[in-house]
Amino acid sequence: MSVYLDNAATTPVCPQAAQAALEVMTEGYGNPSSGYAAGQAAAARLQADREAVAQALGCRPEELFFTSCGTEGDNWAILGAARAGKRLGRHIITTAVEHSAVLEPVEALEGEGWTVTRLKPDKTGHISPEDFAAALRSDTALVSMMLVNNETGAVLPVAQCARLAKAHNPQLLFHTDAVQAFLKLPFTPEELGVDLLTVSGHKIRAPKGIGALWIRSGVKLPPLLLGGGQEQGARPGTEPTAQIAALAAAVRAWTPEDRARLAAVKAYALERLAAVPGVEIPCPGDAPHICAVSLPGYPAEMLVRDLSDRGIWVSSGSACHRGKPSRVFAALGLPKRTLMGMLRISFSPATARADIDALTGALTAVLRERIPMR
Ligand code: PLP
Repeated sequence: MSVYLDNAATTPVCPQAAQAALEVMTEGYGNPSSGYAAGQAAAARLQADREAVAQALGCRPEELFFTSCGTEGDNWAILGAARAGKRLGRHIITTAVEHSAVLEPVEALEGEGWTVTRLKPDKTGHISPEDFAAALRSDTALVSMMLVNNETGAVLPVAQCARLAKAHNPQLLFHTDAVQAFLKLPFTPEELGVDLLTVSGHKIRAPKGIGALWIRSGVKLPPLLLGGGQEQGARPGTEPTAQIAALAAAVRAWTPEDRARLAAVKAYALERLAAVPGVEIPCPGDAPHICAVSLPGYPAEMLVRDLSDRGIWVSSGSACHRGKPSRVFAALGLPKRTLMGMLRISFSPATARADIDALTGALTAVLRERIPMR
């Protein structure tokens, strides 16, 4: 039996989402742009699904644009906003702990002559609003700050920084990557005060290959793709109706109790992990589903393999950095031995206390058998 504790990397698809995708693939397969009955039925279902996701996000359905993944949403937001906001200036503020789906397009813009300020985190992965305020410049056109970090679980001060940014210049565009926050934290884009917000399906029990970008109405974001008139012409491409149906089903299946369950199991995990001699908890995380712990002196990749041999699946950081040390953990300025042994543990509402007990048991065994490096 295996214990899956890497829900920040991806989640198993819930039965409701799988069922919805199957229905659409086999029965409701019409193209929403077709004028006959099957097409119209597909368009009606697409609209209902859009409304369900919009309701969960607390936005209007017409502000929600389906994308192929969180990466596409982040790329579109950053490259589109940079193009749209060029006349304001060519300065971007972001953080050193963003996902590569943000850092890479920002780096591409830097290559085109933009100036970038990357705010540094403190030892627990938090960003200071004072540092943010000090980074604002007269030519700042774009900000991208994630809401929940995918490796530390830290919640970044997006609402506070968006307020500061808009007071500084109401014209600049503020993007937040909310891929790890959607459904896990209570928020709406309006409450955050942002202009652009990214979500992704596979972190919330929908399949991989579906996401959405929320674009505040009135914000004109040039499209990344050119083609047909789908998604108001802003994101052409025949709508992936099966994935969208699955995303909507996963959202409908999520309950407020799920958030409470997450918080309870994480609290239990932190308590049990703190009791294992040799385990440190540098990043308890604020989000209810992610924390990062360390076994100082033990190489994380070895720990991942040792735990996997015992049926426990955790990661040494973002799944997108396989084999390489985590850039986010490295940015925390932790002691070398602590950094070496960092593991991300991430939960789902289905994670049981027995799963946590299995984890702590396996960690204890590994610590007993392996000798730490000096
Ligand atoms: N942003 C964050 C914070 C993530 O954790 C991820 C996925 O790991 C992404 C963006 C990318 O999302 P996707 O895998 O849907 O492209």
